[in-house]
Amino acid sequence: MELPFSESYKIKMIEPLKRSTREQREAWMKEAKYNLFKLKSDKVFIDLLTDSGTGAMSDRQWAAIMTGDESYAGARSFHELKDTVKRIMGFDYFLPTHQGRAAENVLFSVMVKEGDIVPGNSHFDTTKGHIEFRKATAVDCTIDEAFDTTLNHPFKGNLDLEKLEKVYKGYPKEKISCCIVTVTCNSSGGQPVSIQNMKDVYALSKKYGIPVMYDSARFAENAYFIKLREEAYKDWTIKEIVAEMYKYADYATMSSKKDGLVNMGGFIGFKDEETYRKACTFNIMFEGFVTYGGMAGRDMAALAVGLDEATEFDYLETRIKQVEYLGEKLREYGVPIQYPIGGHAIFVDANKILPNVPKEQFRAQTLGVELYLEGGIRGVEIGAILADRDPVTRENRYPKLELLRLAIPRRVYTNNHMDYIAAALKNVYDRRDQIKAGLEITWEAPIMRHFTVELKKA
Ligand SMILES: *Cc1c(COP(=O)(O)O)cnc(C)c1O
Repeated sequence: MELPFSESYKIKMIEPLKRSTREQREAWMKEAKYNLFKLKSDKVFIDLLTDSGTGAMSDRQWAAIMTGDESYAGARSFHELKDTVKRIMGFDYFLPTHQGRAAENVLFSVMVKEGDIVPGNSHFDTTKGHIEFRKATAVDCTIDEAFDTTLNHPFKGNLDLEKLEKVYKGYPKEKISCCIVTVTCNSSGGQPVSIQNMKDVYALSKKYGIPVMYDSARFAENAYFIKLREEAYKDWTIKEIVAEMYKYADYATMSSKKDGLVNMGGFIGFKDEETYRKACTFNIMFEGFVTYGGMAGRDMAALAVGLDEATEFDYLETRIKQVEYLGEKLREYGVPIQYPIGGHAIFVDANKILPNVPKEQFRAQTLGVELYLEGGIRGVEIGAILADRDPVTRENRYPKLELLRLAIPRRVYTNNHMDYIAAALKNVYDRRDQIKAGLEITWEAPIMRHFTVELKKA
């Protein structure tokens, strides 16, 4: 008999989970104003809010924690991390930051000015936040195929070169800060970008004199998809693919909380010294001295190991096969999700499940609340609440997709947990026709409202 697939690691430490009753969850959800971010984590049985900073570290990483160097300047752990980033991504200049959005804040302080245009593939919410906060405009140039959740396209994160060129032709070069390539593309479903597309975007951008920046949170998962789906690279190692990817980037921002396999951290990579030097000043102002930037020495040491582990095929295969396992269960149950299944999460199509709920009542958020009530599972809305209001007209923006994201933490849950999640979602799906009313906002913040929004039943 052929041997089945099994995980490429074993468990050395466990953390108990708390169960609850539906009645308890009803009360807790109401108390949390129907915002899943406001729930206490011990009220959650399986937490799929995010894969950010929620992963489990390896024994090698914990060992590195013990040998971290906490020197203010020139720490050994800083140099280990800097050298690892150079070896894996090829950046000569490097700044640590406390997380990904801090990297954006520092880099954009140099690169983005009021009135600028920043094209990219479905900018991540904090990325867009940092752009709009500077009174600049993010322009989504993702390929149209990305918005059809049933279409099986291998690289739905790709940028549409025509859309991008239209932006480049429409504005003077000085007005375009950079082109952002998000790998994998979080907002359009954890979908990868091909090396071919990276090459094309880079060539087009060079033609117009525009720098290219990779928003790199899930760069290793992107590389795994390239190995599987892009013929020319099928025999390359993940590390070779990653090195190739970064040939076509001038800058990178990184949220180490994802493919860095650590709970906190970030960094910026630069190819040119001038931008690096300018960014140093902002790093010192916002983050800390240039050799720690908001990170403890031990955390930089664990991140250096994490970057190495995240770019190993066996780890990535275990990781992505678990996400696929959940997706395949849901496919079996007929629950509409986005295809192909992304690298870090399952995206459930709330427009298809709850068409009876008016879109003004936030279908994906409503589905998220229902799934929590059903099984104590916490997902997150990627829909109209996240899309926020137009900064000029202040009207609600209704994106083409209303998705409930179930993000799978790295190396944390087992496939029994995946079975439980699939069954709970099937139960919600089976009673979808009874769900006719959604939620209304009672309070919201002026920017990035999804974290703190308060809602009530419509
Ligand atoms: C998480 C993420 C960020 C922001 O990183 P934080 O570490 O959460 O601040 C930026 N871009 C993408 C694509 C991300 O997934």
